[in-house]
Amino acid sequence: MSDPGILPIVECGDPVLRRPAEPVDPSDLRTSEVRLLIARMRATMEAAPGVGLAAPQVGVPIRLVVLRDGPERWGQLTEDERMARERYDLPFTVLANPAFQPAGDGEQVSFYEGCLSVPGLTGVVARHRAVRVEALDEHGEPVDRVFSGWAARIVQHEVDHVRGRLYLDRVESRSLSTIGSYARLWAGRPTEDAAASLGFALSRLAAQPATDHGQSSAAIFRPRRRAVPGRLRDDHPAGPPGKRHPR
Ligand SMILES: [Zn+2]
Repeated sequence: MSDPGILPIVECGDPVLRRPAEPVDPSDLRTSEVRLLIARMRATMEAAPGVGLAAPQVGVPIRLVVLRDGPERWGQLTEDERMARERYDLPFTVLANPAFQPAGDGEQVSFYEGCLSVPGLTGVVARHRAVRVEALDEHGEPVDRVFSGWAARIVQHEVDHVRGRLYLDRVESRSLSTIGSYARLWAGRPTEDAAASLGFALSRLAAQPATDHGQSSAAIFRPRRRAVPGRLRDDHPAGPPGKRHPR
């Protein structure tokens, strides 16, 4: 396919980001219209750059997301930082009608993350370290797969998008930092340092999944043993933006 074109990214405040998206009809996945949308979402995500993108972020209210992480997104992360975040190569992946449940031992981890639809900010969000995802791929074939580490964070962030949620609904509000402040003060430092200085508690997700229309209710709890600095840039983080993502 020739240049599929880059789409404008919808920013928070637009209702399309706050309405649960419509399910994708499996038969539509093979249509030229949806195939072109997927190609455009991929191009838009790569240009941003980001590690994930949901269709509502380009103004299309359907349950379709794309994912991709890899070395070109890791910026200046040290090997230790990358391993702490469990960031590994994630080939380009399409998920239609994705749903997930916690997997593994139910562990949760807290990292800084950001969103292409919330430019200029980043904040700490607790996410499941591993999730089992059920969805359809771009061919309409069933997907039943466990994602862990950073890939699991990306999936949870994108599934939130198709449910009308933003990371702002889950963020430790006192952790919110501008990209500049994050790069200057918190990049490469333990999340606990930001928590102590800014006055927020590292938290865990609610034990019961929130409804599609609800917000998560985070319960305060002890600092996460595994909490490490990280940043999801839309949809996944690619690191201190000031350093790696000049715009
Ligand atoms: Zn996002």
